[in-house]
Amino acid sequence: MQFIDLAAQQQRIRDRINSRIQTVLDHGRYVMGPEVGELEKRLAESVGVAQCIGCASGTDALLMALMAYDIGPGDAVFTTPFTFVATAEVIRLLGATPVFTDIDPRTFNLDPVKLDRAIARFSSPLTPKGIIAVDLFGLPANYEAINAIAGEYGLFVIEDAAQSFGARFQGKTAGGLADMACTSFFPAKPLGAYGDGGAVFTDSREMAEKLRSIRVHGQGENKYDNVRIGINGRLDTLQAAILLAKLEIFPEELERRQAVAARYSEGLADQDMLLAPFVPPEKQSAWAQYSVLAHDETHRRALQEKLKAGGVPTAIYYPRPLHLQPAFFHLPYKAGDFPVAEETSRRIFSLPMHPYLSRADQQTVLALLHG
Ligand SMILES: *Cc1c(COP(=O)(O)O)cnc(C)c1O
Repeated sequence: MQFIDLAAQQQRIRDRINSRIQTVLDHGRYVMGPEVGELEKRLAESVGVAQCIGCASGTDALLMALMAYDIGPGDAVFTTPFTFVATAEVIRLLGATPVFTDIDPRTFNLDPVKLDRAIARFSSPLTPKGIIAVDLFGLPANYEAINAIAGEYGLFVIEDAAQSFGARFQGKTAGGLADMACTSFFPAKPLGAYGDGGAVFTDSREMAEKLRSIRVHGQGENKYDNVRIGINGRLDTLQAAILLAKLEIFPEELERRQAVAARYSEGLADQDMLLAPFVPPEKQSAWAQYSVLAHDETHRRALQEKLKAGGVPTAIYYPRPLHLQPAFFHLPYKAGDFPVAEETSRRIFSLPMHPYLSRADQQTVLALLHG
């Protein structure tokens, strides 16, 4: 059994992918070819925002978004300690300071009450500028509350939608839930390419222009007119071509993910030791991961070993919260500062999840968990 089965998907759409790749080989515009613009238009439409800027990775998308807000030394950006390192890494990369606040124990996303308190009590020479909320495992954060808090304090909100492309919150689509959103096309994400890729979404034309400039070395009129510091953050034409082929089946894949998640949750409903993921009624997850909570670390190890012996791979996202990672040791944090994130990191693990997971394989997983 595979944790994520990309081969099953490829088998379905191999002809479309081949023909898209062939078109790129024929026109030869490998950098910023027509597929990039075509994909940006399609993605913006599907998210329901005015502007989409394709870029080289989800990490670059976050970096470019912060650069568009002129984030630098002396600035503070609030975010979650329970996420992939890229979310906080980009803040540091620009010389700014990540300020962590704890997560909600049921959704694993930023807890708006704790966020509000941390901003209200923030006393530091640093200037609070913005918030990066993460849609962890595909479930959107609580943007109704987070956007309201940001409004109160005059902060921007960036949605880290690297795991949530296709998810929904109160009838809106992930990628369109905050001032700006960033997604990733890393192969294992819900919409994955065959290499690195990412995109930034915004309704602001002005910010979109700035992002397009940052993407190509801060270009002005052309590449040799450099009006600001930028990066080489372009999305490859070949990756855009592959994504266009994958986008055609993406809505159906999302439905399949929903069905797989529903079957897991139904099968786990009578378990009192293993908590199935909680999805608030106003949200729909993109199910990048199906993550469950064991009773404690020992219980988790036992379950993972049992599954492994039965041929079922599992993974832990994330074994250590960011405030306890050596890369962030220079920040004034210690163990015990974010008890929910710390406890979650000891109890959580993820089961195989992809659109092509068979009922039989799911039965195997559930039987091992119950046995
Ligand atoms: C994957 C991921 C990123 C980074 O995306 P890359 O395309 O790998 O650079 C950022 N944030 C989160 C939450 C992610 O899961």
